[in-house]
Amino acid sequence: MVEKTYDVVIVGSGAGGGAVAKELAPLCRQGLRIAVLEWGPKLRESEFTGREAEMADKLYFDSGGFLTRDRAMTLAFGRAYGGSTVVYTGTSLTLPEAVLARWGVPGLDHGDLRRRSEKYLGENNVHLLGDDALNDNNRLFAEGCRTLGYRVAQFPINVKGCHGSGLCNLGCPNAAKQGTNRVQLPAAEAAGVEVVTNCKVETIGERACTATVANPPFGEPSSWEPGRYRIRARAIVVAGGAVNSPALLLRSRLPVQLPALGRYLTAHPALILVGEHEHPITNYFGHPKSYYCDQFVDDGFLLETCMYFPFTTAKNLIGFGAEHADLMGRMDRMQMILVLAVDPALPGNRITLGHDGEPVVDYRFTDGVLDALVASQRAAARIFFAAGCRRVHAPAGASFFITADAAGRIDELITRAPFKLGKVSISSAHLMGGCRMGADAGDSVTDAWGQVHGVPWLFVADGSLFPRCSEINPYVTIMALADRVAERVRARLPELPA
Ligand SMILES: Cc1cc2nc3c(=O)[nH]c(=O)nc-3n(C[C@H](O)[C@H](O)[C@H](O)COP(=O)(O)OP(=O)(O)OC[C@H]3O[C@@H](n4cnc5c(N)ncnc54)[C@H](O)[C@@H]3O)c2cc1C
Ligand code: SF4
Repeated sequence: MVEKTYDVVIVGSGAGGGAVAKELAPLCRQGLRIAVLEWGPKLRESEFTGREAEMADKLYFDSGGFLTRDRAMTLAFGRAYGGSTVVYTGTSLTLPEAVLARWGVPGLDHGDLRRRSEKYLGENNVHLLGDDALNDNNRLFAEGCRTLGYRVAQFPINVKGCHGSGLCNLGCPNAAKQGTNRVQLPAAEAAGVEVVTNCKVETIGERACTATVANPPFGEPSSWEPGRYRIRARAIVVAGGAVNSPALLLRSRLPVQLPALGRYLTAHPALILVGEHEHPITNYFGHPKSYYCDQFVDDGFLLETCMYFPFTTAKNLIGFGAEHADLMGRMDRMQMILVLAVDPALPGNRITLGHDGEPVVDYRFTDGVLDALVASQRAAARIFFAAGCRRVHAPAGASFFITADAAGRIDELITRAPFKLGKVSISSAHLMGGCRMGADAGDSVTDAWGQVHGVPWLFVADGSLFPRCSEINPYVTIMALADRVAERVRARLPELPA
């Protein structure tokens, strides 16, 4: 086993890990050694091909198809230099004050979080696209919402020179999306931080971790030779994401009891809904996600524009056969809406370890979440019809298609009865919780600055910190929280032994 020594080791290079790396990078000028250990590869620019199956295999855990134990929900999260920010859509919202109040974390103040969020909105070039860059799929959603009197707003997004190729979730082939792979990690490396890719951290022990480097047959080879490593560090920051950070800590022998570890996972369970227009519309070309509707957040759901790729779309329609093939053959007429349920943080929704030491996710859908997912399909169907769709496919629909002449009977035609877990395709790309922040080790894992309770050298800096769901797209909040963690690590380092 090769031995290495650093001052700070950061596990994971996504929204959280990338932000911590860049914030701590100035310490390298004082001679401190900082490494980011990232399980995933760094793809060469030419390897971002935009091909659905190929990019899913290279950039996601389980090719984007990680399933909960009961197989009722698919979880999508990235494994790459830049983590899920390589595959996210880049919609950039700041946590509302009311949500932070519901989080109720002592010492976490909204003014502080907003200030740090705004820093990343600037750093990652967040802005609104001009009207000329919005395609029909997005415009029709906004028009439909306005016709119905639903509140609708444009998403700020983080792009620079977007070509509108619509491939954001397959890794932008045009280097336009400003994830940590484009902004924070290159800046950290330029200042002296080492980013070691293809390096999986297996366990964490007293001020040290063990890791294995293995190069896949794509991407740049790791800067470390393949093999096993023991890396000592004065401080370790875990930023592996909401599934893998709890799993890593559960695999590790920590000097404290943390009953909340792995628990309170929330996921914004999502459905992809489809309406069909009479004539082709622009949907593939153009940034895929320009508007959202938060009219129904108190009813437990959000609506967003989206445009997915053929495999993902086909998998998300229920049923198969002639009607399915008919609809898939008309993708050029499709309008799409993504619904996200606002789910409660429950102790039983949790990450545990399988016999191989890898994470297993248990997730129970409450009646409230299932009701919200059904209600969201009714709201989406109304928007589709108000936007001019001739027919709509809803997983809770009485038939595969609901046609426009039945638009007045939506409540009767979209009901809970046909909406059966395991038969409908529910997915999640917003994974939150598992190492929740809070006041003490009784019901949380870290304090409001991401320090693991009772372990002064161990920190968490990613989506697993959320004590409840964010009710909005989460990445900016993750970066803002990671910024606080970096500040605390920096302040604590002088007290931590070499
Ligand atoms: C398809 C998709 C679209 C999305 N769109 C948006 C959006 O538009 N707006 C928004 O706000 N959010 C969006 N999100 C969510 C957002 O990307 C995530 O919430 C955010 O990136 C999570 O940050 P994180 O630091 O918690 O983890 P990640 O960004 O997932 O990074 C974790 C990294 O840690 C690495 N890692 C894990 N375990 C280990 C280990 N043991 N050793 C070494 N490395 C490890 C992983 O390989 C990964 O690279 C989207 C997500 C997906 C999947
Ligand atoms: S739409 Fe813009 S950000 Fe998304 S993949 Fe295309 S160029 Fe990149």
